[in-house]
Amino acid sequence: MNVFSIFGDPVSHSRSPLMHNCVFKTLNIDACYTRTHLTEGAQLRNTFFAKALSGANVTVPHKEAAYAQCDEVRGIAKTIQAVNTLVLEEGKLIGYNTDADGFMSAIGSFGDIHTALIIGAGGTARALSIALSHGGITPTILNRSRGRLEYFECEGFECFDWEEFIARPYDLIINTTSAGLSDNELPLPRPILMELLSQTKGAIDVIYGKETPFLREVKVSALPYKDGSDMLLEQGVLANHLFFHGAYPIDQIRSAMKHSFTL
Ligand code: NDP
Repeated sequence: MNVFSIFGDPVSHSRSPLMHNCVFKTLNIDACYTRTHLTEGAQLRNTFFAKALSGANVTVPHKEAAYAQCDEVRGIAKTIQAVNTLVLEEGKLIGYNTDADGFMSAIGSFGDIHTALIIGAGGTARALSIALSHGGITPTILNRSRGRLEYFECEGFECFDWEEFIARPYDLIINTTSAGLSDNELPLPRPILMELLSQTKGAIDVIYGKETPFLREVKVSALPYKDGSDMLLEQGVLANHLFFHGAYPIDQIRSAMKHSFTL
């Protein structure tokens, strides 16, 4: 039996085991997917091999540690320098980032987008900024502090902290901060957010499974919006497809995984 796992800290809230096990059951794949609570990111590779895993996903805060411990990193993960999917290939640990492509699939429903404002400058913001840029969409990054903006400046993206930012129109506003995840905070001072929402065409919050204060304000503005569920689904579909080296049709994986959201 092939065994897979998600590594994170915390990890108990993760929906990945349900999503992937639903695919295994529906497609009659002899595999199971577990959770691994890992506090020390540096132990990721050893733990992967000690558990004899065939593949894994990696969540907060170990995506950068996973990148550093792969034998080979493929695709957009090389630029983002963060890995959320690990696959064992001929005894080697291969790293991918499916958050980026998952996000691009998720925003397809917003139609034509040329500019996007990313709020936040963490690992998710990195993945999305690179994915948007590769997709021909110009990202601007807005963070409450300057420290984490350096990566984005090096990539040549326009960056602002709250102090220097002046609102202007964007096609899409994306909240990648954890504001609203376990508190009741907005990701931006309210006056700036209100001004932005009056000039944008749509908004997305990468947080899923709850209505954040950010999404509540977006709803009041009557803009098209979505939470992070579609991104979660699509990154999972792509990871599952990689786990078996493309052996199972992606449409069948998506349909089985989507079903797990109704359980
Ligand atoms: P990081 O910890 O790497 O980055 C967090 C960012 O949020 C930082 O820029 C930080 O700013 C900012 N921030 C945190 N709290 C606040 C606040 N109260 N107000 C304003 N800014 C704040 O996190 P990740 O990028 O790894 O993850 C971010 C979110 O994305 C999480 O909620 C995670 O659950 C979600 N996610 C969803 C996915 C999906 O599939 N839907 C996939 C991956 C992540 P500063 O630099 O000033 O500290």
